[in-house]
Amino acid sequence: MDVIVVGAGPVGMTIAALLDTAGVRVEVVERSSEPVRQSRGSTMHPRTLEVLTVLETGDGCRLSDVLVELGKPVTGTHYATLPDLLDYQDLDTPFPFVLLLAQWRTEQALAELLRAREVPVHYGAEVTEVVQSDDEVRVLAGGTWHSARYVVGADGAHSAVRKAAGIAFPGTTPNAVGFVGDVRLAHPPEHSLHLWDQERGSVSVIPLTDTATRVFGMRADDVGLTAAQARRRQAEPLTFAELADSVTGISGRDFGLRDASWLSRSSNSARHATTYRAGRVFLTGDAGHVHLPAGGQGFNVGIQDATNLAWKLAAEVAGRAPGLLITGEAAYDAERRPVAERLVADTQAQDALMHTFSPAGAALRSLFGSFIAQGGEVAQQLAGAVSGLAVAYPHPDGAHALVGTRAPDLPLTKGSVLRALRPDRFLLLDLTADASLAKFGSPQVEVRTAALHDGPRRAAWDSVRAALIRPDGYVAYAASSPAGLADAVAAWLEPASQPDAVRGK
Ligand SMILES: Cc1cc2nc3c(=O)[nH]c(=O)nc-3n(C[C@H](O)[C@H](O)[C@H](O)COP(=O)(O)OP(=O)(O)OC[C@H]3O[C@@H](n4cnc5c(N)ncnc54)[C@H](O)[C@@H]3O)c2cc1C
Repeated sequence: MDVIVVGAGPVGMTIAALLDTAGVRVEVVERSSEPVRQSRGSTMHPRTLEVLTVLETGDGCRLSDVLVELGKPVTGTHYATLPDLLDYQDLDTPFPFVLLLAQWRTEQALAELLRAREVPVHYGAEVTEVVQSDDEVRVLAGGTWHSARYVVGADGAHSAVRKAAGIAFPGTTPNAVGFVGDVRLAHPPEHSLHLWDQERGSVSVIPLTDTATRVFGMRADDVGLTAAQARRRQAEPLTFAELADSVTGISGRDFGLRDASWLSRSSNSARHATTYRAGRVFLTGDAGHVHLPAGGQGFNVGIQDATNLAWKLAAEVAGRAPGLLITGEAAYDAERRPVAERLVADTQAQDALMHTFSPAGAALRSLFGSFIAQGGEVAQQLAGAVSGLAVAYPHPDGAHALVGTRAPDLPLTKGSVLRALRPDRFLLLDLTADASLAKFGSPQVEVRTAALHDGPRRAAWDSVRAALIRPDGYVAYAASSPAGLADAVAAWLEPASQPDAVRGK
């Protein structure tokens, strides 16, 4: 094997599918004896659907098509459960909505894709040891040693891979514990509801499908705990009776609560790995960052981690990764850790907004809610961040303004950018009048022509004549004349010397 992925959660299965698409020999080892049917994340944001468009499921379909078919698109999403929603309808994406879909359905679709692609997924294989040398990594999974050139730890918050690699996971201890359940309601609200009581706590009710409703919130007496109290509280299984008592006690309504298909507790512990790479071992998703599940961002950001890492690791496996991607400013760790830093800070801000049960908290919510209701710059900035569409990577001095930003789904002469991306090659948009960039084509650079007349929303693209798009859909180079294109292609595609690349030092 080239790569062993530890963990068959949404992030592990995404990176396994992307690596396999890029021609990397990959296998997945998973502790559970079979796929787990847990709701957990129910919110999928636009950028996640965009990146999952890269994965083909057959019949000309993409994974995003499959998921949209399964889920329920809604045009807005809450921030810190404030009643005025962030509006996604005007976002420049083929997916201007939030997709409500239970996490296990997403995982099931990914598992089916891996099965169809014949990527081995070993269930009942808990990883207990990870040992790396200069040449390989060995992983003890379910009592059997597996070896590969690289290991990706996608094994969640308590990651055994992270611990074995000696990567620290500093952060804050929990001081608040919330409740969450997927239930049936005799009287479900037509739209999402977010209710507060300054003395008793908060409750949110989000209709997921015709039959399932997500209910979550926080009791005021579950805030301000010591770390030990919080851990004890978290360890107590949530019962249906307690959920019903919390919902009616806080909101004064019972919504005709029937049975629950899933009950759990959440905490506001926030932790972030000090590095995402130790030699031949990488961390992705919750193995690298955990936080309060606010705004439905955990697996969304994890899937972006996977997308960022997959093409870089595929290039490294093939021995054609430049230093820029291994230890330079475009390395996985350099690009993704700042994104998760912002994510953790964002969820901490939401924690304060959501769980301050006092007149001061109410005033803060009212003020913040009014910013969102105005739909101005604050609302747009939040929508950009939570949707994932505004996430950008560092912009080198003097580079075109588009460099580092996500390429929108520009129409090409044939198809569009999102459907032309692949994890093993760059996309060169030839926007010259005479299609003069064909000579830059190679197995690693797909040249596509386009004539852009896309209106004011994409004004920044008007003068662009050449754009090199990375396999994960971010702009590597853009210019009004292709003069610097050869240098850009060399910088992004010319391999580093092999020993450095392999050691990742
Ligand atoms: C109440 C709640 C609501 C949430 N809502 C959202 C939401 O709406 N949107 C969103 O994006 N996120 C949401 N999240 C967060 C989301 O569920 C997580 O971020 C996501 O599951 C992380 O995916 P992962 O693949 O990194 O890790 P996990 O889903 O934790 O998967 C890790 C996998 O690794 C396996 N594993 C663990 N240890 C080992 C080992 N030693 N050996 C082998 N296998 C191992 C596990 O069995 C598991 O299958 C929510 C979370 C909670 C609790």
